Formats: sequence, structure tokens, C-alpha cells
Amino acid sequence: MSIKIIGVDADDTLWHNEPVFRLTHKKFNDLLGEFADEDALERRLADIERANIKTYGYGAKGFTLSMLQTAMEISDGNVSTKVLREILDAGREMMVHPMEPLPGVEEALKDLKDRGSLILITKGDLFHQESKLAASGLGSYFSGVEIVSEKTPEIYTKAFARHGGSAETSLMTGNSVKSDILPMLAAGGYAALIPYPLVWEMERADKPDGHPRYREVETLGLLPKWLDEIS
Ligand SMILES: [Mg+2]
Repeated sequence: MSIKIIGVDADDTLWHNEPVFRLTHKKFNDLLGEFADEDALERRLADIERANIKTYGYGAKGFTLSMLQTAMEISDGNVSTKVLREILDAGREMMVHPMEPLPGVEEALKDLKDRGSLILITKGDLFHQESKLAASGLGSYFSGVEIVSEKTPEIYTKAFARHGGSAETSLMTGNSVKSDILPMLAAGGYAALIPYPLVWEMERADKPDGHPRYREVETLGLLPKWLDEIS
């Protein structure tokens, strides 16, 4: 068996993302400290964000709208325009945050692209994800980009078929067990987890340890070793 297509996640796999969100959470909590403590703010924001994902999808823009809604609700409408403005600015800051590939990622992609077609598969906002890929300078390593609303077995099946392959002869790699690993295994493909120290609450799931088509690797640079084993 040889792997024809390698799907690669973007956020927290190619570049840092979750730390940017954590920093914005901190700013948000500081700005609204007079209305509620940090735990209450975090709980309310998480509830609003979860409900809003169905409408706004994933990404920084939807998150900004959720922060604004939380601010208005938790303050019973007493939040100042100045604070709302600062939340808006914090959201905008996330959109233009400098993009830098994680250490070793570029070398790893150089190596991997000779072993199969590389497809970037990421959830989120089309405009922002494309801007991040352009800013990272990694775009030329990929023969395709799939920006999807959700990572499900059906979406993986269709994405790999669109690029002339099938899930069974493809491998997906990323930092989220819930999005990059479990649905890819369910689609019949191979999946490699590259853990990232911070995991977004909504991406938590148990690792499928012992699954024959699953492996945890420390860095993207160690993926070729597993590809050799598969073939
Ligand atoms: Mg990710």
C-alpha cells in the first residue's frame, strides 16, 4: 500500500493559532472584568460561541461577533461603546496577526511533497485561511487547498476524491483528534496526530490508541518514517 495524497491541517499544525485566541481571551476578560469574573466570562463566551458556530462557522470573525454578543449580554447592555470598540480591535488584530511557520515545518513539507500530493485541509473562514496561507509562504508546497465548514468522514471522502484519490489511499495529519484524526479513520484513511500543547475546548476528544491506521508523531518531520512503514 502506498499513500497517494497527504492532507495537512493548517492551524496549530503549520503555524501557531490557539495562542492568538488565548491572548484575545485575556484581553476580553480584562476589558469586562467589572461585569463578571474570568470563569463566568469564559463560560458565557463558550456557550455563545458554541451556539453561533452553526450560523457563523469557525474562525476569528465569528469569534469576534461572539465576544461582542457576550459583552452586551453579560453587562445587561451596560458595556460602553469604548469597550466594544476595543473588542472589535482585538478581533481585527487576530485577522492580521503575523504568520510564521512552526519550526521544521517548511523542511518537512519539502520532503513530503515528493512522496505524494499535498492538500491543505482546514476549517474556517475562506478569506482568512487563504490570507494566512499566503502570509506563511507555504502555499507553493500544496497542490490543492480545501477550506471546509466541518471535518467529517463524508467531507474527507469527497475532498480526496476531488483531487483524484480516495480516503483509503490518503493520509490526514493535524493537531486535532476530533477533526483531523477520528473522521479520517472513519472514512477509511490513515491519520497522524501531531500534538500541539494547547487544545481548544471544542476540539477535545480521546485518542484512538491502538488503531492500525493511526499514529501519533512528534513533528511533521517524522511523518515520512511512518509513510515508509505503510508502504
Ligand atoms: Mg489545527
